[in-house]
Amino acid sequence: MRPVSYNVKVKKLENDISMAEMPDGHTGQGFFATKLDDVIGLARKNSIWPLPFATSCCGIEFMGTMAAHYDLGRFGSERLAFTPRQCDLLMVMGTIAKKMGPVVKQVYLQMAEPRWVMAVGACASSGGIFDTYSVLQGIDQVVPVDVYVPGCPPRPEAILDGLIRIQDLVGKESLRRRNGDQYKALLESYGIQ
Ligand code: SF4
Repeated sequence: MRPVSYNVKVKKLENDISMAEMPDGHTGQGFFATKLDDVIGLARKNSIWPLPFATSCCGIEFMGTMAAHYDLGRFGSERLAFTPRQCDLLMVMGTIAKKMGPVVKQVYLQMAEPRWVMAVGACASSGGIFDTYSVLQGIDQVVPVDVYVPGCPPRPEAILDGLIRIQDLVGKESLRRRNGDQYKALLESYGIQ
């Protein structure tokens, strides 16, 4: 068995329980004022619903990430779903054949905005070791990717790190971003209206 090390410090529950951080704002007696963007971002980042699109070995690492050792539920993401319309984070894990590319894109299109995408592992990020005629050389050829997780396979710590980076993006995203010209141009570059 390979040795397991944790990148998460065990905390004493009685005096050091982790809480979601408070957004920047102004406080006084009986009130707290902050930006709507920050409140929505705080709620979204701590309730991400992932859709795991796992085709091969990286999916097994994700199963480890979900299990009790690493426990993705600590990040508010224990509610996995295989129904694109209910999810806001597409996690693509494993080798994606070119024939599978349109399927990944269809799943992405079925997700409602705002949606994010994480490419987990070398295969999803770049085709990995499979520089062949049949393998898609990165899912960013068919859908826009927000975070790439390196590794073949990435350890569960790396997948958690990727999720934390997605949380950072989600928490800081302006509510207007999805209506902006830059975002529309990004989608149009993928042939998405
Ligand atoms: S990156 Fe490595 S571990 Fe992950 S699916 Fe590809 S070959 Fe398998």
